[in-house]
Amino acid sequence: MARIGLEIHVQLNTESKLFCGCRNESGGEPNTNVCPTCLGMPGSKPRINGKAIRMGYLVSMILNAEPETRMFFSRKSYFYPDMSKNFQITQYEIPLARNGYFEISGKKIRITRVHLEEDPARLVHVGGGITSADYVLADYNRSGVPLCEIVTEPDFKSADEVVGFMRKLLTYLQRIKVFDVKKCNWRADVNVSIPEGNRSEIKNVGSIKDIEKSIRFEIMRQEHLVKFGKEVKRETRAYDSETGKTRVTRTKEEEIDYGYVFEPDLTSFSTSREHLDELKESLPELPDEMFKRLKEEYGLNSEQASILVYSDPYLAFFFEECAKEYDDYEKLANWLVVETLGALSKIGKEFYEFDPSVKSFVQFLELMDEGRMTARLGQELVHDYVKTGEEPKKLLDEKGLGVIKDEAEIKKVVKDVLSENEKAVRDYEGGEEKAIHYLVGKVMEKTQAQVDPKTAKEKILELLG
Ligand code: ZN
Ligand code: MN
Repeated sequence: MARIGLEIHVQLNTESKLFCGCRNESGGEPNTNVCPTCLGMPGSKPRINGKAIRMGYLVSMILNAEPETRMFFSRKSYFYPDMSKNFQITQYEIPLARNGYFEISGKKIRITRVHLEEDPARLVHVGGGITSADYVLADYNRSGVPLCEIVTEPDFKSADEVVGFMRKLLTYLQRIKVFDVKKCNWRADVNVSIPEGNRSEIKNVGSIKDIEKSIRFEIMRQEHLVKFGKEVKRETRAYDSETGKTRVTRTKEEEIDYGYVFEPDLTSFSTSREHLDELKESLPELPDEMFKRLKEEYGLNSEQASILVYSDPYLAFFFEECAKEYDDYEKLANWLVVETLGALSKIGKEFYEFDPSVKSFVQFLELMDEGRMTARLGQELVHDYVKTGEEPKKLLDEKGLGVIKDEAEIKKVVKDVLSENEKAVRDYEGGEEKAIHYLVGKVMEKTQAQVDPKTAKEKILELLG
């Protein structure tokens, strides 16, 4: 059984950077959103962004961690071009909070610590990867963006647990408004080991898809080594999403000496217990509470409610917005959870990236209710819908599809299908009930699902006598 631990860096959704007044926006023309402080110029001084501290405390609360009321920052020295001052301002000796846990499917994942630090510059490797690039460009727009680092104990046993944890964590962070999945990035360093070997650390994995694939690959790689009697070395690796593989970047076993020293340009900070209590009081309805409420208020089952609440930061809110306009909640939930998410996962897209309008989604359901689209056709059309985001009505018109209501037309199609599939007809007549599904499928195919399967079945039975 594998043991997996995470070090997650989440960009906080503040207005300005952690130690200067520059906007917290890492995109745009490179090196334009910068000042002497986030460029690390000699003589510049950091000033702490109080909102980032507040957000850090909120994060520690959803992680059930014990907050420190007094804390300070330290310099973590390393020589690398993503920090022009050659150190990162972070928290080391006393983190913002520690000893927490976060629950997924009834299992507690222990949280070692939560702390704040500045994001380094973004490095762009030109002409190759991290080890083979011709040269490297540095964009300091990202330098100084506030990060909240969350370190877990190695309590995960599988890629699935990690994925479930990350999805749930992101919905929590979004809910307490310290993070916006559309705007802020996150990335995780993933420690993976199996009982027979040393642990490897996969650096900077930045999406749910990659985290899942990199862990699966890494476990397979280590098991493979052990199987052939080879040693699993302690090393740092990188995940390449193009090849789906991890590869080694550093092998030396040394603990890098970061030479932590207190940051002398910042004073220590104190927060009162009262203030922390007030913050706790201000927390909104959290996903676990929402999960219960959705079940009660809309009569959803646990599976539906759980997927709505925990799989995507925007999904449950979207459900509730739609529910104001559309009152078959069961149907609404199913079309979101099963069909829409199914179609999205086929093209590797998250719900928040699709983010349809309430109007268009409700229209999609109403087309079926009004008899303008069969459910089967809806299951086809939803693929175009998630790809294009177009109005369903328009998609339907563009394709010239609808529901065939004309009896004679249906009869003709069914007749054709029966004569083209004599074997299935004989099978059915020979007592093989299942053959009917095959014939219904053929009618669907021929009509591009413009006939309701129930109607098709009735017609087939009628014609077969
Ligand atoms: Zn700045
Ligand atoms: Mn860090």
